[in-house]
Amino acid sequence: SGKWARAVAILKEFEDKCGTPIVKLRQVADAMDVEMHAGLASEGGSKLNMLISFVDNLPTGDEEGLFYALDLGGTNFRVLRVHLGGKDKGVIGQEFEEVSIPPHLMTGSSDALFDFIAAALAKFVGSESEGFHPPPGRQRELGFTFSFPVRQTSIASGTLIKWTKGFNIEDAVGEDVVAELTKSLEKIGLDMRVAALVNDTIGTLAGGRFYNQDVIAAVILGTGTNAAYVERAHAIPKWHGLIPKSGDMVINMEWGNFRSSHLPLTEYDQALDAESLNPGEQIFEKLISGMYLGEIVRRALLKMAEEADFFGDTVPPKLKVPFILRDRPTLFLLQQIENKCECDQTAVLLKSASFFQRAHSSSIISKFQLSSEPLPLFFPYVLFSLPLLQSSFSLSLFLFLSNALTQDEERKAAVTPDMSAMHHDTSSDLRVVGYKLKDILEISNTSLKMRKIVVELCDIVATRGARLAAAGILGILKKIGRDTVKVGEKQKSVIALDGGLFEHYTKFRVCLESTLKELLGVEAAETIVIEHANDGSGIGAALLVASNSQYL
Ligand code: ADP
Ligand code: MG
Repeated sequence: SGKWARAVAILKEFEDKCGTPIVKLRQVADAMDVEMHAGLASEGGSKLNMLISFVDNLPTGDEEGLFYALDLGGTNFRVLRVHLGGKDKGVIGQEFEEVSIPPHLMTGSSDALFDFIAAALAKFVGSESEGFHPPPGRQRELGFTFSFPVRQTSIASGTLIKWTKGFNIEDAVGEDVVAELTKSLEKIGLDMRVAALVNDTIGTLAGGRFYNQDVIAAVILGTGTNAAYVERAHAIPKWHGLIPKSGDMVINMEWGNFRSSHLPLTEYDQALDAESLNPGEQIFEKLISGMYLGEIVRRALLKMAEEADFFGDTVPPKLKVPFILRDRPTLFLLQQIENKCECDQTAVLLKSASFFQRAHSSSIISKFQLSSEPLPLFFPYVLFSLPLLQSSFSLSLFLFLSNALTQDEERKAAVTPDMSAMHHDTSSDLRVVGYKLKDILEISNTSLKMRKIVVELCDIVATRGARLAAAGILGILKKIGRDTVKVGEKQKSVIALDGGLFEHYTKFRVCLESTLKELLGVEAAETIVIEHANDGSGIGAALLVASNSQYL
């Protein structure tokens, strides 16, 4: 029918505008290279901040001691303690806990956020085992991984330039985030020194280097996106300090804020940006990172619903809700339950029962999304941590839940962000797509033909993001002259990648890797290695504390 043709036309036009042919990607890489030079030349010389990290020495692998780290990323933060063994021993012990940030704290006050973090840290320190106690008279030291743009003033201080990724806490902008954290630590009487403030990209770079001395850059693809790399200090005109002994300085590019006329921006991207918390900012990030991909898909679908009656005569109301295609499951509600648990167990029992029932009746997850941990591990954890298990009630609750989750498919759909789940649907009737459309957008009876179009939309958006990320990496390699192979040189360059998008969104990762190969050509591609630096940012912060410890 005419309407179907119109829908297909909208899809094709979108695909066209999102196109990233190799020629375009080369232009993007060249523009990245140019902006990198400009950002290094002078403060404010480019949209790329090219922030000086004050890290001029990366780990050697010989670091030693007990250290804490705190990793504040997008939606969760993690607290870690790491035991570094010294020469050739690597990490000999490590414990961590993940806590999700209640959404109201993401746009509240600085005090509220840092008090919440300090409290979680104090609780974690309280659970320290024998082997992790610091020697008598020695203060605990913390590396603070803070994944937002910070103008560093030293290795352990820096002021917040702006928030990104859905955070917006006005009174923290311009403040020293270490001072803010320290204030909250003192308030609750936790004796701990913040010895290093690092961006997650820098942490990932340091963590990567600890294991592999060929690591020269790090890229994060998670809720947001960013990159860091090792620059020669004398190639940084805006650096007026001493040239460090190593001759190197690590640069936090803040590449999420990159923009160029060569970027394939569509009307949907423009509208997303205009309605975002940070209009005009983080344009590269809004094309690439996990927080935004599903939202772009939603906007394109909405257009098809409005202009081509794609889902029938009326536009499904849920399709109008921004960010309804969630980028990640959160632990939020369960944690609230857990927190309350200490005060009033009966209330908690009742609450969790009704919660689980509601969650189940809406096919488990989408209403109150759970954790990013695999469910089989996660559920027992929640239940045990709820101190419920002694009662027969909780036992039946547990059985009820495990029954509800016997279907693998459902289990997987529950822990995978909506867009990724739909994009990876391999069933012949695109069952997962149908399930997500019904469960999240409340659109039932979708035909296979419609579901295929939805998958195509996901593919267009993810492919564009992955290919642009590859172009960004090529830009860095160009800047440091490692994009081509010099005669007689077989120097390997390793790029450490981390973040949930890279780690879990298989189609995105595969596309990024193949595009980078394509851009480099066979010969150069052999010298460039992309390595998944699992969880580098937390360990990296601990490593940087080791080299900046007050007890050295
Ligand atoms: P942060 O960036 O907040 O530090 P992560 O590195 O864990 O956190 O990245 C979270 C992002 O990773 C989410 O926004 C989501 O887009 C993506 N992600 C997480 N799990 C998956 C998954 N199973 N499939 C696809 N994408 C995922
Ligand atoms: Mg992170």
